[in-house]
Amino acid sequence: MSQIISTVMQQAQEAFEHYRQVSGKNRAIFLETIAEEIEGLKDSLVAIAHQETNLPLPRLQGEIGRTTGQLRMFARLIAEGSWVEACIDTAKPNRVPPKPDTRKMLVPIGPVAIFGASNFPFAFSTAGGDTASALAAGVSVVIKAHPAHPETSALMFSAMEKAIVRCQMHPFTIQHLNDASNETGKALVMHPLTTAVGFTGSQAGGKALKAYADQREVPIPVFAEMSSINPVVLFPESLNQTNTTLAKTLAGSISLGMGQFCTKPGLLLAIDSPALSTFSETLEHELTQVALHPMLHTGIAKAFDKARYTITSQAGVASEASLAVVEDLEKPTPSLAKVSAKDFIENPLLHEEAFGPFALLVICQDVQELSQALKALGGQLTTTLMATEQDVENYPEILSLQCSLAGRVILNAAPTGVEVAASMVHGGAYPSTFDARYTSVGTSAIKRWVRPICLQGFKDWMLPEELKDGNPLKIWRLVNDTFTNETI
Ligand code: NAP
Repeated sequence: MSQIISTVMQQAQEAFEHYRQVSGKNRAIFLETIAEEIEGLKDSLVAIAHQETNLPLPRLQGEIGRTTGQLRMFARLIAEGSWVEACIDTAKPNRVPPKPDTRKMLVPIGPVAIFGASNFPFAFSTAGGDTASALAAGVSVVIKAHPAHPETSALMFSAMEKAIVRCQMHPFTIQHLNDASNETGKALVMHPLTTAVGFTGSQAGGKALKAYADQREVPIPVFAEMSSINPVVLFPESLNQTNTTLAKTLAGSISLGMGQFCTKPGLLLAIDSPALSTFSETLEHELTQVALHPMLHTGIAKAFDKARYTITSQAGVASEASLAVVEDLEKPTPSLAKVSAKDFIENPLLHEEAFGPFALLVICQDVQELSQALKALGGQLTTTLMATEQDVENYPEILSLQCSLAGRVILNAAPTGVEVAASMVHGGAYPSTFDARYTSVGTSAIKRWVRPICLQGFKDWMLPEELKDGNPLKIWRLVNDTFTNETI
């Protein structure tokens, strides 16, 4: 295996040396062409992904649109060009001491390894957001297909191969490994030519890849999106006013796609009240009304069963779902469990993700307990406030805690559903990711695959176009501390 990976990474390095020289405008055309080729294979891609993942056809059709939309979003970003964050500080030779001319921009880091995710076979997998953002940044990519949808991944790669030929890119700009084994992933991460890793999946998987990366002589970043329980705080006035609607909204969000979303609301927190009892009864009922379909693959179904059992068998947890072991493993019934804030705070096993249709309701005695429960949590991708304006005014400390907890803070909407937009943050502190400064969705995802470089004392003709006095690309730059798209 290591010999194969060695060859693959040498090829990726060769391709990088070529691809890093391709202009932003031509890289944009390449991304657009990949999107076109994917659209040409849409029906076959959806059919094969449906067979491999059990995901419903309409969901997969929508996901194709999201995938091509992401590619086109990055194409627009790099065709415009200002994303490189060019900064220019011109020389002041008469200053004492003389000030040199310094110019900074973002440049691609080198070949990267991307691991496809199981739960989004298109949008977070082979040609998904990690790959799109990496290609936009100007790095070559080696993709490890997710073992749960190898045929889908191979077909998606064939679309990208066609775009490589049509756009006359280096043949190894994108490479694809369809070999299901930990050894392949390990060898990819450990190879000296790999400069960064993109991953979406389990905490165990993400941590294993990070451990390999840290063992290298030259450690590299692992941008892993792992586990998140996405706490939702149900504020008192909101519970009083929108009880049934709230329960229906959350039932839909907990069970959407059989709960196999990284943004699924796995934790609900509220102060005890009669309105909360009505809410939880309605929510439990709504969850039993959900149409069931099989989970993504047997491994995920088993992992969910185990994780839910671990939670529901802890001291103080009340749940119908403790019967989970005897029901249909492939199509688990969505369920809710309840626990007091006191038991929740004391037991870290209750803070773990159960990736599937399940949520835990934490019942707090007062706002102090609610604060303590939030403080007991690790970093999250999202947190939601189900709150009236009066609630927000009454509990500023809870809003402040939620803002420190997660990458995205949502008011009165389900956390499932991640808009692909420049303003999106799909990231958060550990254990949701390893580095809260980055996002894996939205245009800023490109920042994972670049580094800043400062060129000092260079003549104009030696500079890249982004940093030349004449500003031939007409991009926005910070020139002597003022944003401008003019020439110097
Ligand atoms: P996974 O087991 O983490 O696998 C994801 C990828 O990482 C696969 O390509 C796998 O390849 C590789 N991998 C995993 N462990 C590895 C190791 N020790 N060394 C090298 N490579 C390794 O994820 P999954 O199959 O998608 O789902 C399993 C669980 O992940 C779920 O039950 C859920 O808890 C979680 N999950 C979370 C999210 C999220 O967005 N938060 C999304 C999907 C899944 P090989 O198996 O071929 O080595």
